[in-house]
Amino acid sequence: MDEIKDSLKHLKSIPFFCRRCGEWKWLGKGWLCEDCLRKQIVEFEKIAGSIDRAIRAATEVKPQETCVWSFDQWSDDFYETSCGKAFTLIEGTLEENDMRYCTYCGKPIETTQEDS
Ligand SMILES: [Zn+2]
Ligand SMILES: [Zn+2]
Repeated sequence: MDEIKDSLKHLKSIPFFCRRCGEWKWLGKGWLCEDCLRKQIVEFEKIAGSIDRAIRAATEVKPQETCVWSFDQWSDDFYETSCGKAFTLIEGTLEENDMRYCTYCGKPIETTQEDS
């Protein structure tokens, strides 16, 4: 627990991988780099994004290497990452939080979330 608190404390002082573009950058709000933050705002503004998103999903290249995030059932709010870290979401799912890349190792996130 203390380790997690400590790593959260350093959030603002060390760069992380942006959860959206996967680049190693200084992050702004919500694990996004400034570029992605700006892009996200633009995206939110054009609500007709569903067509956009469909095109993007169809053309997106799926990299092989992923970081597997498994939901820790025992401590119910942590994801264990395959790169050896733990991550907790304030609310919602990874999808709802637009988490695509592991903020620790930069690989695309793969979840093994089970319904219980
Ligand atoms: Zn980014
Ligand atoms: Zn990782």
